[in-house]
Amino acid sequence: MSYQKVYQESIENSDQFWAEKAEELHWYKKWDKVLDDSNAPFYKWFAGGKTNLCYNAVDRHALGSKRGQAAIIWESAETGQSRILTYYELYKEVNRFAGVLKNLGVGKGDRVLIYLPMVAEAAIAMLACLRVGAIHSVVFAGFSYDSLAGRIDDAEPKVVLLADAGRRGGKNIPLKPIVDKALETANHKVDHCVVLNRGLVDVDMKEGRDLDWYQVLEEKGENYVEPEQLESSDPSYILYTSGTTGKPKGVVRDTGGYSVALHNSMAQVYDVKEGDVYFSTSDIGWVVGHSYIVYAPLLKGVTTIMYEGTPINPDPSVWWKIVEKYGVTHIFSAPTAIRILKKFPEKHIKDHDLSSVRYLFLAGEPLDESTWQWAHDMFGVKIIDHYWQTETGWPMLSNMPGVEALPIKPGSPTKPVVGYKMKVVDQDGNQVPRGEKGFLVVEPPLAPGNLLTVWGDDERYKQSYFGFFKDKLLYMTGDYGIEDEDGYFWVLGRADEVINVAGHRLGTREVEEVISSHPAVAEGTAIGVKDEVKGQAIVCLAILKLDQEESDKVADEITALIREKIGAVATPREVRFVKMLPKTRSGKIMRRVIKAAVEGENIGDLSTLEDEASIEEVEKAVEAMRQELS
Ligand code: AMP
Repeated sequence: MSYQKVYQESIENSDQFWAEKAEELHWYKKWDKVLDDSNAPFYKWFAGGKTNLCYNAVDRHALGSKRGQAAIIWESAETGQSRILTYYELYKEVNRFAGVLKNLGVGKGDRVLIYLPMVAEAAIAMLACLRVGAIHSVVFAGFSYDSLAGRIDDAEPKVVLLADAGRRGGKNIPLKPIVDKALETANHKVDHCVVLNRGLVDVDMKEGRDLDWYQVLEEKGENYVEPEQLESSDPSYILYTSGTTGKPKGVVRDTGGYSVALHNSMAQVYDVKEGDVYFSTSDIGWVVGHSYIVYAPLLKGVTTIMYEGTPINPDPSVWWKIVEKYGVTHIFSAPTAIRILKKFPEKHIKDHDLSSVRYLFLAGEPLDESTWQWAHDMFGVKIIDHYWQTETGWPMLSNMPGVEALPIKPGSPTKPVVGYKMKVVDQDGNQVPRGEKGFLVVEPPLAPGNLLTVWGDDERYKQSYFGFFKDKLLYMTGDYGIEDEDGYFWVLGRADEVINVAGHRLGTREVEEVISSHPAVAEGTAIGVKDEVKGQAIVCLAILKLDQEESDKVADEITALIREKIGAVATPREVRFVKMLPKTRSGKIMRRVIKAAVEGENIGDLSTLEDEASIEEVEKAVEAMRQELS
């Protein structure tokens, strides 16, 4: 099948296309309408249909031919423990925990907040929520009590699930005190906290409110809990994402559309086959963790790896040992992780038998060409850059090797995925000619699996995503991009980070791409700072590879490269070397913070400004940067 044919089918015969995909899953009641768009931009996929995501992800396999197959392999580089759960074991565990939730009075539509590290219990709890029809809200177990309190007040959960501690880089990170403080701060009161005591740190249990995970399983767990028959458009979860302004938005996901989209993506985007082993290195606190650690691999009935730890602790071969041990076929990671590994000697990777791997998928931020090339040379497999957002739940732009592998253009996440009408438009929402820069938008309807709304704030959903262009209903991704002559898309960075030098609009990505193409550079970024004459001037920051020396020569070479590749207009005012860049916990470079630091301004209150950051790490990076730059 050709990509073009399948893609066109998904757009022109959308109802039939998605109905066929939906037939592959279990429905208690078939839908009345594939897409109800009568209340646009609120879309209901498989309207009138009834289903349960947990049933489709667990029961369907556990009670079928995959009873003894590994569903989840948990590996903790932090504690040295590992655990394999077969589909049947997962089924039992999920039922037991669903019993706990039910007996704590949690039912359809109730919210459960999950503040757990990367442990198998987190996936079990997520699935158990969906089994009883509860809406989970997983909060990355690295967020501050303040961020947590905000989410508690917004989602108003009945129950909070947490652990005594997480571990990162060999250190315990106590979680209970953070939850206690968040609950003191929040206005909303929860009924219970269920505490998974891993034996890492002492916990202070609050009588009446706090329950011990294992004890409550004994007392309230059940062998079987009937899955709740949910409307396709009933919410499955809320996942908060922070934008540049305002409080974080609670992205609301549906049940049926999401299940169908994820299940199909495993076949068509990721080319996953029976028996494959999928290793997504993200965290359940992010959308990649929701979709591609937990739900999609299980919906597809393959094995998923849950990993607790960093890519370099105890050493940079830790992931590759896991890949070798379990015969991983698909790795899904972020460019930032690959850039970290790129700094270390190749032997950490080369010493392992990685012949089982067929694909390395990367997403989350631009994948610069030189990192793509490095990964390609290192692994010798298809390196697939794909582009999506918390809001979309699954890829928007990607190569689709499960349909037809298109030639790869390093640096481009290829073409629109089935169901997405992607366009590059000007500020009035008119499509610009191929080759010209503009805003990356999606022409509605939104594909199945995309957000239903913003939790408790339909108006904000309309304003944030569909309110950008005055007279046109277009979903604004917030990104700046180009569609080239061959219909390939290039993402140039966030639209609000475009650098405007003397009237020329440059995506941060364009400059970064050139910086990191210099052989001495491991990672680079560019920002626009105030300039009296040109409006903005470019400042480049580069992190060199471990074996390289900082010198004026390298700085001059980078400048020359930028002039050559982009033009004199992009000539940086300066090129500086740093050891670390401030990043969000999900690996995105915090350009606004860098900008403030370079311009000598106060970086502001990070806890509210940059909700996704580890404040301490960012402050350290900024301080180091300031010293290096002064
Ligand atoms: P998040 O919702 O936190 O996953 O962030 C989504 C944003 O990450 C997108 O809007 C892009 O700015 C960026 N992003 C994700 N994937 C890519 C990619 N493959 N290339 C460039 N930018 C990306």
